[in-house]
Amino acid sequence: MRGTILIISFYLILSADVGAQETTSRSLRSATTIQPAMSPTPQAATSPVPVPEPSEKALSYYRSGNVLWGANIIWELLIPALFLFTGFSGRIRNWAQRLGKNWFFVIGIYFVIFSIISFVIDLPLDYYEGYVREHAYGLSNQTFGKWFGDALKGLLRSLVMGVIFLWVPYLLLRKSPRRWWFYSGLLTIPFLFLVFLIRPIWIDPLFNKFGPMKDKTLEATILRLAERAGVEGGSVFEVDKSEDTKALYAYVTGFGHTKRIVLWDTTIAKMNEQELIFVMGHEMGHDVLGHIWKSILFFSILIMATFYTVHRTAGWLIHRYKHRFGFDHLADITSLPLIILLCNLYLFIVTPFDLAYSRHIEHEADRFSLELTKNNHAAATAYAKLQTENLGVPRPGLLYKLWRAQHPTLGEHIDFCNTYRPWEKNEPLVYGHLFREAK
Ligand SMILES: [Zn+2]
Repeated sequence: MRGTILIISFYLILSADVGAQETTSRSLRSATTIQPAMSPTPQAATSPVPVPEPSEKALSYYRSGNVLWGANIIWELLIPALFLFTGFSGRIRNWAQRLGKNWFFVIGIYFVIFSIISFVIDLPLDYYEGYVREHAYGLSNQTFGKWFGDALKGLLRSLVMGVIFLWVPYLLLRKSPRRWWFYSGLLTIPFLFLVFLIRPIWIDPLFNKFGPMKDKTLEATILRLAERAGVEGGSVFEVDKSEDTKALYAYVTGFGHTKRIVLWDTTIAKMNEQELIFVMGHEMGHDVLGHIWKSILFFSILIMATFYTVHRTAGWLIHRYKHRFGFDHLADITSLPLIILLCNLYLFIVTPFDLAYSRHIEHEADRFSLELTKNNHAAATAYAKLQTENLGVPRPGLLYKLWRAQHPTLGEHIDFCNTYRPWEKNEPLVYGHLFREAK
């Protein structure tokens, strides 16, 4: 769903796994894909893998995706602006005050009403984007019932998170009107850690069935690799994603005892063992190199900067339009659409920085996996499969790269996987000290 609400959009941003290919709506939601390439024959296994030409369908998906992305950006500014300039946000606050009486309940009730109305307004675009379009391109296996059920669960998840957490920044706005942006930005760090901790056990299973890997031989091979890579604890899960999609994906999530690598069953079905080993090595790289916590810190800094800019600009808008808006200070819950509007605007501006960082860690996870597995051919065919199966294009334009690409382009992935082989020239490995060589 479109992230209507601030904290929910944080959630979406990071629920996009480390491993995704493109961001759809809002700055940072994502879904990756891998496509099946030619299966490597023994004699071909060392030759470079050509970057596949994108199909007409993939090009059409790419072009229409760019248009849709632009429409989403406008939509995410337009809708909160409508809540504000029509004074509708003020009316929601009045209803919430009649029902809630005290400050805490007014915030919760406002949030619930606001979210449900936003959900309904967004529904047609979400339906087109998440259901109609995915089916039209042959990427989706979802029934309408599953799609709609997931949408409702997504709304429920937002409501619960909002009611539990939204009062915190509003309390800070009230108690510390000059420093709220700093404390709220700081609190983003434990909040995101908490989300990552509970997500694999309490949130993800609401949407799909997670279980141990069915192929025990493959699982044993992966666990041996994990042991070599020094991945502590954690385990490998297979998720029944073929119910929803034909796309391929894998990700690493959780902390401590909730840490896990998750393979979509679609990926297991389409990739051969060597390719899966490379993908697993990539995900293990994210873990060993600390990419989750580094991403949380990096993103929290961007959020703090965004809050600061909101702090510096919201006052001027409130002063100029307070009669239309129906509130005269930011600590009033009626300001929520204004905060969302400004955050969406500033997040759009910082997105290229966020994505550049994301592309950097994706590249390093590839490097880690190549050094660990030393199978350039399987790595390159894995990305060729991602491209084909997920309707990716190998060399997207600059605008796409700056604002949408969470990964290096597929062409860059394949080029790197074909050519990175320092071990053949006896050059030192960048991450050789982090894992044990295969016997
Ligand atoms: Zn990754």
